[in-house]
Amino acid sequence: HPSAPSLMMNAHFPSVGEDVPKEAYEHGIQVIDEDKEFNDNISTYLSIEKIIPAGFNYHLISVFGSQSTGKSTLLNYLFGTEFGVMSEQERRQTTKGIWMSKNKRPADGTKMAENILVMDVEGTDGRERGEDQDFERKSALFALATSEVLIVNIWEHQVGLYQGANMGLLKTVFEVNLQLFIKDSKTMPKSLLFFVIRDHLGTTPLRNLQNTLQQDLSKLWASISKPAGLENSRIDDYFDFAFVALPHKILQPEKFEAEVERLSTRFREGYNDPKKSGLIDETELPVFLPQYHRRIPADGFPAYAESVWDQIVHNKDLDLPTQQELLAQFRCDEISREVLVAFDEKISPLEDKQAEDARIGKPSVIPDLGTAMNTARSKVLKDFETNASRYHKGVYTRKKAELESKVDGRLKALFQKQITAAHKSGIDTFSSAVSAAVKSGQKKGATYDFAQIVESEKQKAIAKFESEAQSILVQGAPWSSYKQELILYRKELDEVSGRLRKEEMRRLATRVERWVRSRLDESIGLEFNKIGTGRGGSGAPEHGDRAASETDLWDRVWGIFTDTVSDAERRFTERAVSFDASSEEVEVGLWRLRRKSWGVLRAKIDEEVMEGNILLKLRENFEDKFRYDDHGVPRIWRPTDDIEGLYTKARESTITLIPLLSRFKLSKTSAPPPLDAWIGDAPASVSPADEEDLAPIGGVDEDEGKSLEEEMTVLSDAKAADLLVRFKKTADGVYVEAKRSAIGGMTQ
Ligand code: GDP
Ligand code: MG
Repeated sequence: HPSAPSLMMNAHFPSVGEDVPKEAYEHGIQVIDEDKEFNDNISTYLSIEKIIPAGFNYHLISVFGSQSTGKSTLLNYLFGTEFGVMSEQERRQTTKGIWMSKNKRPADGTKMAENILVMDVEGTDGRERGEDQDFERKSALFALATSEVLIVNIWEHQVGLYQGANMGLLKTVFEVNLQLFIKDSKTMPKSLLFFVIRDHLGTTPLRNLQNTLQQDLSKLWASISKPAGLENSRIDDYFDFAFVALPHKILQPEKFEAEVERLSTRFREGYNDPKKSGLIDETELPVFLPQYHRRIPADGFPAYAESVWDQIVHNKDLDLPTQQELLAQFRCDEISREVLVAFDEKISPLEDKQAEDARIGKPSVIPDLGTAMNTARSKVLKDFETNASRYHKGVYTRKKAELESKVDGRLKALFQKQITAAHKSGIDTFSSAVSAAVKSGQKKGATYDFAQIVESEKQKAIAKFESEAQSILVQGAPWSSYKQELILYRKELDEVSGRLRKEEMRRLATRVERWVRSRLDESIGLEFNKIGTGRGGSGAPEHGDRAASETDLWDRVWGIFTDTVSDAERRFTERAVSFDASSEEVEVGLWRLRRKSWGVLRAKIDEEVMEGNILLKLRENFEDKFRYDDHGVPRIWRPTDDIEGLYTKARESTITLIPLLSRFKLSKTSAPPPLDAWIGDAPASVSPADEEDLAPIGGVDEDEGKSLEEEMTVLSDAKAADLLVRFKKTADGVYVEAKRSAIGGMTQ
């Protein structure tokens, strides 16, 4: 039996924001303080009272009514609570606020339901001051919106008096409740309005009082403004009613206590169907019917209550989400944060690793990234589902999508970075594998198949890329595909292949040029040597041949040159085509080859006509003519021989070679060979890089300011004159020697 409450001024109730020890909650908690602040220790309190794990197995009751109508007194008697009660001597106001306490009466023996939470609303009579009225309304609305059972406490003599029975307040509260919480809700649970008529004298039967109240309520409901769509709703759609009368506490204390005791037994669980409860006596019906329960799991109640209060206090937008949605939002966000902790633990280190690699410029490849991502993703979503799916479906679905997109945002970044790394290293590997294969092909000396090397390395590179990308696909993630990346990868492989092919073209060009050089070196050298022999060809020298062989030197050089280059061009083309070079690339290659080959020839000619070389050849040419007879037999000089005549003839013959050698001219046209036409115009696709290492050619590159004539000048006039002088000296020497030997031969 509860002890009769005495002077209690709420001093033992922890107030909002106070960081308090467990014992401080012994008598309950202040849910909302006089400054309308919501206490964020409700969870702590409900944990201490072991209600948090109770799921739906808890009940919420509030009391509603004018100031000093004995509300707190009643609650304390009913539930053994210790809510503040106004002192009978002092008539002092207790502190404003909403208080909560768990039912303190032992559950056994009383038939009462488990986990009853009682809220006591302490306000002032809101008739004097606007501000007070505001608080009263808000707390009443809060009580109405959260509680299964709302005790409306009223003096008997107030029945039938609009103000006295708080009908004004009720009207406002019903109205706002409709606007704020019921409007869009199809599943709004009903509440029980439990009228407790105090100081019942007994002269007017409860039945009559009840009728009066019910009539008043119906009138009140008809008069309130209802939101669109709810115009025809009835008060019974949202409320059930119960009525009880209590004797005067001061005048009939024993009767009062006995009636309260009887009343307490009604705070037990019942069925929706009153017949099932087996009771016909209305005054004994249980008050906790399943339909009144808000269906907020106990662990979600603090958040739920707070959001309800938040809406009431701010009341800015009447078009707010329903309670269930609010709670769902809050809980889903909270669960989201909770499940993300484990996700973070797994994923953050991977992100850090990538960031670090990026910082030092290293392609970041995390082994088993795919497994890590898949595990983390499915775990975080599963955890969320397990904890959050019991809340409002729409909100849950939305929050799940939010979580998914948050998670996927991060996973996608990981995926993307790894795929970028795979791309980069794949391209590098490809490029160096091709180079290595070419090098080893070159070493073996065999003609390697460049196109085949590229193709096979490309296949390997693609297979590797695909398997790496495949391994980091994330099950169920809508972004998880590497199609686009593969396209980009293939494209870059093709670009790199193109570059490598260009390099290969250069290598081919170098090889072919080298071949041209060695060929020309030999064949052109031979042609110049023929000058020395004074014969056009091998075999028996004919006088006529001699002249021919000397005058058509340049025709032969040009012929050999163009033949050789044609040969080289054919080799080049064949090979280039074998590795898929484009016709433009081949065209440029051939153009370069011709220009370079000309350079080779020109250098070879310069070498041949170098001072010492050409003088030696002229001397040989002269000696050949001078010292051999027409049959190629060496002369033995006799004093009778016309040494001087032969000398002059041979010398003059050789001297005619000098102007011939000085200009590269074809005998048929007496003009330089058509080098410009032979080289041809630069192909349209030629790039600056293609021209970089090319020496200018006179008559071909017009803006070089050098004519074809000049390009074809082998010996300048000055050099030719100098050569003539030297040659004459040399010839003179030979002549003197011949003379001497003729005389010497005689004296012998
Ligand atoms: P509350 O403001 O509604 O919570 O009222 P209180 O419980 O603080 O009580 C206000 C005053 O009414 C106190 O002095 C109580 O002793 C007194 N009181 C409590 N119950 C009754 C009752 O049943 N009848 C009468 N006449 N007075 C009561
Ligand atoms: Mg009170």
